[in-house]
Amino acid sequence: MRMKCSFCKKEIPKGTGKMFVKADGTLFYFCSSKCQNNWKLKRDSKKVNWVRKKQPEEKKSKK
Ligand SMILES: [Zn+2]
Repeated sequence: MRMKCSFCKKEIPKGTGKMFVKADGTLFYFCSSKCQNNWKLKRDSKKVNWVRKKQPEEKKSKK
């Protein structure tokens, strides 16, 4: 099963990353505590510079 980071959308290799379960049962995966912390702060990953750098293809979908 492939997991993707719920924050930066990077694929997480099996055996790494963190899983987070919200009180309502929603599952979230994070490639690092950095992503988890930013997600907790309710940051929009599209507005976070270090995430955007990782996703150069994001520019193509710009409308
Ligand atoms: Zn991540």
